[in-house]
Amino acid sequence: MKNIYSNILKFNKNTLFKTLRYLKKNKIVGLPTETVYGLAGNAYSNESIKKIYSIKKRPKKNPLIIHYYDLSRTSKDIKIDNDLVKLYKKLCPGPITFVVKKKKSSKISNLSTAKLNTVAVRFPSNKKTRIILKKLNFPLAIPSANKSSGVSPVNAKDVAEEFRNKLKIIIDGGDAKFGLESTVIDLTNKARILRPGVIGNIKISKILKKKISLAKSQKIIRSPGSLKKHYSPNIPMKLNQIKAKKNDAFIVFGKKYKNRKNTFNLSKKSNLNEAAKNLYRIFRKIKKLNYKKISVVKIPYKGVGIAINDRLKHAAS
Ligand code: AMP
Ligand code: MG
Repeated sequence: MKNIYSNILKFNKNTLFKTLRYLKKNKIVGLPTETVYGLAGNAYSNESIKKIYSIKKRPKKNPLIIHYYDLSRTSKDIKIDNDLVKLYKKLCPGPITFVVKKKKSSKISNLSTAKLNTVAVRFPSNKKTRIILKKLNFPLAIPSANKSSGVSPVNAKDVAEEFRNKLKIIIDGGDAKFGLESTVIDLTNKARILRPGVIGNIKISKILKKKISLAKSQKIIRSPGSLKKHYSPNIPMKLNQIKAKKNDAFIVFGKKYKNRKNTFNLSKKSNLNEAAKNLYRIFRKIKKLNYKKISVVKIPYKGVGIAINDRLKHAAS
């Protein structure tokens, strides 16, 4: 099939060179990561960061995650403590973000951290994005490549449709491996999970040899910018349903549900990882098909199911 989006580029020597040139000029590009696709810009440049907030229409108080090639490159920007080193060794590069203290000498743009004295850092594992990070002498701020509060993109076409010709470069990296945003863990005080993800609290507890809690309640501020409505297809959505009306989209999980026109199965095999990967693809499909309401069955609250329930709760908010 012909690629009708001229800004979706195959990754090769030429497009790598072009991408690096854009980033060095403080322009914004679309990049694949193993979680979801992102909008990348120079994290040391106010000019780049302003562009990211403006194109995403993101509230300025919601800070961005700063992406590095490896831990050694963070040393001028953040305070590195034991917990960070332990988790980094076992889990990185990978789908986990660490909130840590920012150093006074840090060159990270104040706008990207919403003027906080903390910063969220991540080391993505996607090979193409790692090659780009390695060749740059600054880290990249990379929020998800969608308009604020909407559904995160899981392939290059999603990004192209979200921003049309506002982006000149979107690097094609196929389908995002996990399709769900990173786990966010706050290490500035008693370690706690601000946003659940594919890497769960049990795994983290084992590595740190201590109990890690989940900032669960809506009353607790999960992250300074965490908005009530988020990850949302902007269609009224009801959770924990056992059936749906014929004209409503029905998001189900497991083999007991029949294949009907309005039924969208997150995983026939009842596999939560597969369900996580399908969630946003299905949200986008339902939106394209113009459904006016969505019913979702109960999703098991264990493992990655905790992260899926978190996103559903925000999407339905
Ligand atoms: P996204 O909106 O997908 O780019 O995810 C970024 C997440 O990381 C949001 O929930 C932010 O609020 C959170 N975050 C970024 N920086 C910080 C920080 N310094 N402290 C706490 N949470 C942060
Ligand atoms: Mg996002």
